[in-house]
Amino acid sequence: MLQIADSIEVERPQDKLILRLRSILSGYMEAAQIDDIVRAYHFGAEAHLGQFRKSGEAYICHPIAVAICLAEMHMDAKGIMAAILHDVIEDTAISKKELAQLFSQEVAELVDGVTKLSKIDSKSRAEAQAENVRKMFLAMTKDLRVIMVKLADRLHNMQTLGSMPSVKKRRIARETLDIYAPIANRLGMNQIRHQLESLGFKALYPGRHAVLKNAVKKARGNRREIVEIIENSIKNRLQQSGIDSEVEGREKNLYSIYQKMLNKKISFADVFDVYAFRILCDQVDTCYRILGIVHNLYKPVPGRFKDYIALSKANGYQSLHTVLVGPYGVPIEIQIRTHEMHRMSESGIAAHWLYKSDSEKAQLAGARANEWLRELLEIHKSAGDSLEFIDNLKIDLFPQEVFIFTPQGGIIKLPRGATIVDFAYAVHTDIGNACVSARIDKQLVPLQTQLENGVTVEVITASWARPNPLWLNYVVTAKARSSIRAYLKHFKQQEAITLGHRLLEKELQAMNLQLDAIPTDRIAILLSVLGVHSLDALLEDIGLGNKMPFLVAKRLNQDDIYAAVKLDDNEKGVESPLIIKGTEGMVVTLAKCCRPIPGDSIIGFFNPGKGIVVHHHECRNSSEIRKKQTSWLDVEWSADTTGEFSADLRIELLNQRGTLATVASTISEMDSNIENVTVVDQDDRVSVDLITLTVKDRVHLANIMRRLKKLFIVLKITRVKA
Ligand code: MN
Repeated sequence: MLQIADSIEVERPQDKLILRLRSILSGYMEAAQIDDIVRAYHFGAEAHLGQFRKSGEAYICHPIAVAICLAEMHMDAKGIMAAILHDVIEDTAISKKELAQLFSQEVAELVDGVTKLSKIDSKSRAEAQAENVRKMFLAMTKDLRVIMVKLADRLHNMQTLGSMPSVKKRRIARETLDIYAPIANRLGMNQIRHQLESLGFKALYPGRHAVLKNAVKKARGNRREIVEIIENSIKNRLQQSGIDSEVEGREKNLYSIYQKMLNKKISFADVFDVYAFRILCDQVDTCYRILGIVHNLYKPVPGRFKDYIALSKANGYQSLHTVLVGPYGVPIEIQIRTHEMHRMSESGIAAHWLYKSDSEKAQLAGARANEWLRELLEIHKSAGDSLEFIDNLKIDLFPQEVFIFTPQGGIIKLPRGATIVDFAYAVHTDIGNACVSARIDKQLVPLQTQLENGVTVEVITASWARPNPLWLNYVVTAKARSSIRAYLKHFKQQEAITLGHRLLEKELQAMNLQLDAIPTDRIAILLSVLGVHSLDALLEDIGLGNKMPFLVAKRLNQDDIYAAVKLDDNEKGVESPLIIKGTEGMVVTLAKCCRPIPGDSIIGFFNPGKGIVVHHHECRNSSEIRKKQTSWLDVEWSADTTGEFSADLRIELLNQRGTLATVASTISEMDSNIENVTVVDQDDRVSVDLITLTVKDRVHLANIMRRLKKLFIVLKITRVKA
């Protein structure tokens, strides 16, 4: 009996899957390559032995399913091997090196590209997720197959979400809709994108998905008759004109219906009451002829025609779109394209493998994807951290573009909502950095103007112009955003270096030294002791308050440069104060709590990473900080300080009509501006207001206060210092 049981081969799910994979591969691959893939399968199965998917199947079933998905796109042998081995580094003890030895460096790199970073505990989940996506992008810029494996992996994970806990399910679904489906879209892989979207939508909003699905099912029945009428009349008309083409009805997927309802705030009926058709033909010319014919059959809706053949979308999508008014006034959406354009719109960069030999367009898709990746790489270089990179990526992934002309007739594609600044940066980083205004169709316009489709923009630059942090409030392209940030970062760095230089020089002077007179090898030793890579970096550190200038100077001065410096508070007494103007920029800031103005006695605090913050000597916060830390320094106003400084006044007024206006006009007569007024307290008789105004210095402020005191409506007036 036992023997009989033994001889019955129980077919395991992985056996079935590998059989299917082999049969697909044999359609386009040589036997030797298939043997390599089978070897990878045996290795992977061994490595994952004892691991199971949440569904209970052996783990190896998942990588084979991923490989099958890619084989259907005719992925090459190395790509298929990477798909089979894609979870080996992450989930088993096998290393990248071993994979390289056994299956080639190429396969090892591909697998490494889809492997998550080992967990870093201190980071938030958002940061960790961002780090992983960023890593994958870097790998993808080297080899596009990385993203193909990753998308196929994500697709299979979405298909098998069923047995996951619901929190995890939702997180994966959200990431799929936010990152992976848009990437598939950006690479023109519409088939995968639609699958990811509908699976993501179902997992994230099961209720809404069910309601919409039901509604579509119901509506479909009611529509059948009219769909047939329209389809037949289009077909007949095309036939009469002797055009060889295919007409097919097109149904929107649930997620795009949902998106439309959400974005345009319209009802299901309004979205779904559109009848959509696609017409496929062989030649580009024929597309335009078909357009003429359908416009003749039904009246087109003005303003809805789009020629994505002449101006393709950023992901390479090509088609003619038009909307017609059909029988009974129903709207009809028509897409017209060639078969080749259609294949490209379904598989995007995957077409590169699928239609290898015959297609120039497929090559173009690969080139376009690479160009996009190069841009991303540039953005990646100037982005500060992973979260910033992901933000930029998301902006980049949802293109809804406008076409703008340069004065020379060039066309620049920008996302909807882009401004002059975005356009300037798209032309060239230097132009962006120096732009001051622009002319749209000869009219002068400000920088924040949003661009309309088809306008001609001439950017006006000036040699003195610099990027402004405020631009970040309205630019929408990743390129502009990251260039502005990079510039400001660099600018702040320059300021910090200058300040650091001044601070160090001041300390050295107290020791009768000069930075220039110190031998360079001595400085080099100090840099290596402190672990700083250059003098500028050290000066920047000092300027930002990360290092005390006094300690650095002392170290340069003492005989044994390696010995740690002991800080003796008494020695600090001899130093002279640092002279400031208050207009140094980002590295010297005046505290908001006490708002010091020229003439006030002041004190400075090092704030690591921010530079020096200057407080009023009497400021309550300053005495608090002084108690806690020793990194404060004497500062004094420079005698030739000019400019406008803010001060706060607390003022008690009779609560009558017009009193505040009287105060305001008195202040403005005194050559000062009111920046802000807050009513702190109010009753029938008295109103207590807090006024922020601009003054030149302490004398100016005193004069203003004296004038205000003379007004009979002013009961009491004091300056606020924290
Ligand atoms: Mn996987």
